[in-house]
Formats: sequence, structure tokens, C-alpha cells
Amino acid sequence: VDTKSWMEQVKRQDEVDRYLINGEDFIHESEIRYQLDKNKSCSKDEIEQILEKSLAIERLSLDETAKLLNVKDENLWEEMYEVAAEVKKRVYDNRLVFFAPLYCGNLCINSCKYCGFRKENKLEERKVLTKEEIKKEVEYILSQGHKRIIVVFGEHPQTDAEYIANSMKTIYGVNKRTRSGSTSRIRRINVNAAPMNVEDLKLLKEVGIGTYQVFQETYHKATYKEVHPSGLKADYRWRLYALHRAMDAGIDDVAIGALFGLYDWRFEVMGLMCHTEDLEKRFGIGPHTISFPRLTPASGSELSTSSKYLVNDADFKKIVTVLRLSVPYTGLIITAREKPEIRDDVINVGCTQLDASTKIGIGAYDKAANSEKEDKQQFAIGDLRTLDEVVKYLADNEKITSFCTAGYRCGRTGEKIMKLLESCTEGRFCKLNAILTYREYLDDYASEETKELGEKLIQKEIDEVNKEEFYQKHNLLVMFHEYYERIAK
Ligand code: SAM
Ligand code: SF4
Repeated sequence: VDTKSWMEQVKRQDEVDRYLINGEDFIHESEIRYQLDKNKSCSKDEIEQILEKSLAIERLSLDETAKLLNVKDENLWEEMYEVAAEVKKRVYDNRLVFFAPLYCGNLCINSCKYCGFRKENKLEERKVLTKEEIKKEVEYILSQGHKRIIVVFGEHPQTDAEYIANSMKTIYGVNKRTRSGSTSRIRRINVNAAPMNVEDLKLLKEVGIGTYQVFQETYHKATYKEVHPSGLKADYRWRLYALHRAMDAGIDDVAIGALFGLYDWRFEVMGLMCHTEDLEKRFGIGPHTISFPRLTPASGSELSTSSKYLVNDADFKKIVTVLRLSVPYTGLIITAREKPEIRDDVINVGCTQLDASTKIGIGAYDKAANSEKEDKQQFAIGDLRTLDEVVKYLADNEKITSFCTAGYRCGRTGEKIMKLLESCTEGRFCKLNAILTYREYLDDYASEETKELGEKLIQKEIDEVNKEEFYQKHNLLVMFHEYYERIAK
């Protein structure tokens, strides 16, 4: 494959230029600096007023986010953690959504200094999964009880948009019998892949993409340049507008993220907020989710352990808290890169989605199914628990696991879902769907211990639904119980 001409084919300059305003990006570093500097000493009253706005489930302005980021008083941070937890409860209640990552290929033309997949890394064994291998991976993922997958790819002509689309078709096509005799399949595929042109993105839309996820890594241009020395990823702007192009291609669930540890974390949170604001301004809808991976040791990457901007656990919790308070209705993802105790902590202050039973080696799920040792991975995993172990732990803490993808299937995506979330209505539908999918999970996959705890939790949830006026008023109770009985049989 002629990589150079492939790269020229993928990247279309006019698809960058059209988003510039007076030749400029929406990230203005001097403005971010100015906001962070001028808001260094806010009174407690001012911060509490901002917290009231978050509690009213309103997005904060850049100015307000900068004020929160500058809080020094640890007692005030404690108050912020509590309010963030309350905001999460109001929008998402006690539900957590699960997904499984599926790494399909680690060939890459880029040289990201923090990633084990970068082309110069000779320690990495390169592989692209075949259709048959993908099927095996999906069968294992289904056997754990998952219904959502995020597929992940390096950037390479061998794993181009066509390969991604075909992989998605393969995944949607896998059916597996459950122990209760029903058929299980993946209901939603999200994609984490390199920026694409609009034509390629339309192809992914056609085959039923859920969320399209592209992390900017760092919004700070000089750092971006330094850590992405070559390949398509070296172009900051091509990446910055990846999700604008996705919106124009009709994909209205897009996900942003920054790789924390490359540059100053306060600056990156402001970058994420600028990105959110710009998407909202132009398309009437912000990101569906925000991710905040922390730089994790990766094979052959010195930067991944030596960066001077590595974020400690205390600051990581602050990042999640400020994001929860700034965008109360946006999903926040915490992955198994983090250790269980960190995940628990940030779930409490705001995260809404997580993975479990995670394997990130190429073909690693099938290897696990056959008790083979895993090859080198892109980076180290911090939470090795299985889905069942996490579901059990959460049930013990009265948190319900949702395998729901109904919002997606009923067309409640994009603007519609955001409006519902903003008015906290989505939560009511989600509660019903969470119970139904939890029922499926308990019957089809849960261990005895998980089932025991899960039954108590599900009964508590059903009692709440029965008492809630909203469901009675909208005649949803009869329908819900009918569905429940049908599943529970
Ligand atoms: N190649 C595509 C890209 O770069 O957008 C998608 C796959 S890439 C493996 C997915 C994400 O992994 C990147 O966006 C980056 O944030 C994250 N990542 C890479 N190296 C990492 C590391 N050492 N620690 C934590 N996250 C890392
Ligand atoms: Fe390739 Fe993505 Fe890793 Fe960069 S982060 S080396 S583009 S896989």
C-alpha cells in the first residue's frame, strides 16, 4: 500500500478550512490563559453561586469553569464533590452504563510519543483481526453479558474506513445463545478511530455507528506538535475538526477527550469546554460523552512515564468533578486504565460509563477464552475485574448496571437525547430500560452471588417505579410490567 497517497486521499484540506472563523480555530490559547489567570481568587460565595447553576442542570460558561478550576480551599473542594454527586444523581440517578473495548488492529502510520502502537515501536507485535477473529472476540464479549462495544483502531490503510465498516457489520451479525435460551447480540457499536473525511464518515453512519470518539489528546498546540512528530496525526487542525465533520456526515453522537498528562490539566479542561461550546454553537448539540484518559505506561514510550505533567489521583478527581459540574448532562467515561479504587471514587462524583472484563491486546478476548497468555498491550490495565465482579460490587453499593441502548434504537440520539437529559426526562426512560436490561443480565449471565444482590436491588428499583407519579401519569407502568414479565419468564 502506498501510504503517502492514501494519506493524501484521506485528508481533505477544504474539510478543515470550512470550519475556521476568520482563518482562526475555536481554541484561543491566550483567551484560555486569560480566563485561568483572571479567575484566580474567587470568593466562596461566587463559587457557591456557580454550584447552584450546576444543580439547576445548566452548562457553565468558560469563565465559571475557570473559577472552579482555580479553587484552592480543600473544604470547598469537598463541597464541590458533594454537589457533583448530587448533579449526577439528578440526571443519571444510580445507573451506570457498561461497554467493552475491542481492539481490531494496531498497525499505525503515526508516531505519537505516548502510545505503544506508534510506528517506530519495535516491541509491538502488529496484527489486524480477520473477520473470523473478530467474530471470536465478539462471542467472548457477549458471553460476559456485554451489549455495547467500542471498536478501536490504529491509523493505517489496512484498517481504513472500509475495514472499520466491514468490522462493524461483522460485529452486528454475531448472535449467541444465552443460558436462558434467548439470543444475545451487540446492540451498539461506538468507534474510536482516527479523524476521517466526510465521505468515510458517511460510510460508518450507514452501517450503524453509535458514538464516534476522537480525543484531541492535548489542546495546547506546541505540546501537540512535540508529541505528534509525523503522520496524519501531526496535523492539529485535521484532528480538531474531526467531530465537526462527523456532525456534517450525520453522526450526531460524538465524543471528545483529552489525554491528561501531556500538558497542564487545567488548560486541558478549558480546551474540552471550548470544544463543547463550539459544537453546541454550530450544531445545537454538544458531545455525547467526554473522556479523560490519564497517561499510562505504554510499551517503548519514555514519555508515558516521564512527562512532567502526569496527573495525580487527587487532581484526577478534581478534573472529573469540574467536568460534571460544567456539563451536567454529558456522559463521562472512566476506563479500566484506572485502578478499582480510583474508578469508584470518580464514579461517585460524576462518571456514567465504564468498561469491565477489559482486554486490550489484539485478539486478547479469544486468548482469554482459551486461557492463553496475553501479548503486549497498548498500555497497562488498572482494573482487571470481570464484568460480573463489577456488577456485583455495584449492586452491593445500590448502583444499577444498565445495558440499555434503547435511546439509540428509538432514535433518541443527538439533539433529542440531550434535550431529554437537560430536562432530566431521559433518566425516567433510562430507569425502566436499566431495570429491563438488568433483568436480562441477572437471568443470562450473573453468578449466584451477583444474582442474590441483584434481585434485592431490582426489587427496590421496581418499587420506586411503582410509586413514581411520572410513570402513572404517562401510562408507562402497564407496558413496563408487561415487558418485565416477558423477559423474566
Ligand atoms: N488511533 C486512533 C487515534 O489515535 O485517535 C484511535 C486509537 S488510540 C489507541 C485511542 C486513544 O488511546 C488515543 O486517543 C489516546 O488518547 C489513548 N492512548 C494512547 N496511548 C495512551 C497511553 N499511554 N495512556 C493512556 N491512553 C493512551
Ligand atoms: Fe496510532 Fe492512535 Fe496510538 Fe497514535 S494514539 S500511535 S494514532 S494508535
